[in-house]
Amino acid sequence: MYVLGIETSCDETGASVVEDGRRILSNVVSSSLNFHKKYGGVVPEIASRMQLETITAVTEGALKEARVFLKDIDLISVTSKPGLPGSLLVGISFAKAISLAQDIPLLGVDHTHSHIYANFLNHKNIRLPFVALIVSGGHTSLFYVQDFNRIQPLGQTQDDACGEAFDKVAKILRLGYPGGPLIEKLARRGNNKRIKFRCSGTVKPLNFSFSGIKTAVLYYTQLHSKVHSVKQSAEKADYRLSTIDYRLKSDIAASFQETVIDTLIKKSLLACKLKKTNRLLIGGGVAANNRLREKFFLETKNSSLKCYFPVKDLCLDNAAMVAGLGYRLFKRGISSNLNLT
Ligand code: AMP
Ligand code: MG
Repeated sequence: MYVLGIETSCDETGASVVEDGRRILSNVVSSSLNFHKKYGGVVPEIASRMQLETITAVTEGALKEARVFLKDIDLISVTSKPGLPGSLLVGISFAKAISLAQDIPLLGVDHTHSHIYANFLNHKNIRLPFVALIVSGGHTSLFYVQDFNRIQPLGQTQDDACGEAFDKVAKILRLGYPGGPLIEKLARRGNNKRIKFRCSGTVKPLNFSFSGIKTAVLYYTQLHSKVHSVKQSAEKADYRLSTIDYRLKSDIAASFQETVIDTLIKKSLLACKLKKTNRLLIGGGVAANNRLREKFFLETKNSSLKCYFPVKDLCLDNAAMVAGLGYRLFKRGISSNLNLT
């Protein structure tokens, strides 16, 4: 069975053809990232306009690469929530139009659930039930998955998402956007024990909070920055420039990253304990972080708990995971119609 996946929940436009929920025949992703860089974050209006311009070419590209025609497609699976409203609207409208014109069944799927499914594209024998941790630019959530139509939320962030905290800390350290990979690179040279940051506590133990640590990084950085007065020309006023020593900057990045990872591990292990499962699946953009992957494996290597990660490309937003999840749910008799919103 061939499923065409369509993903437009944030700044990416993705289309993919997946066979029987496993074999990726194509996975095309076009990102508007470069257009958002100068703003330091995703601008929804820019994202949806770029998606409108690229979605036809991206989908045609995915069909061509998979060597299939639209008439061969058995299901269109599209991200229907959660995400930026304008962006989701582009994908959903496009998917509905193809479904109507070609008489192909349609299914709207949850973006966070598709991040969990990404693991099934490169691991063969994952047994249900399991606990899943999704860490991305917009979400930080723990789920208990009995099947893909029986997913129980266990906890989520109360404020910033984990990836958002990486992005904001990168902005404070003037590294650029998106911040996650830049923090990871800088942290490799830093001492992760030098600064004692901590993530705020939460009333519900499986919830998360990252806004406090982000503010702590801001205050620490301000306190340890050197402020210079820069002399300009006679016409222009002087301005003050703050700089921070490279060594200290890498230590801040490393200490921040380590604290966040330790919190993710602690809460994920607690969720597994409470749910009495020894399988933990991780997904979302932050799951591409090498230190996070390494620490999850280190912390669990002497226990019966097994951690699963998608390959790195499938951690980030893509349509293959949307197609895969669509297949799985469709086989359970679930589908949508043109009323999908
Ligand atoms: P997503 O929302 O799933 O598309 O993931 C994007 C988010 O993942 C952004 O907030 C990125 O900063 C973050 N991210 C991507 N790569 C990494 C990395 N290597 N380490 C930490 N965060 C990352
Ligand atoms: Mg994204």
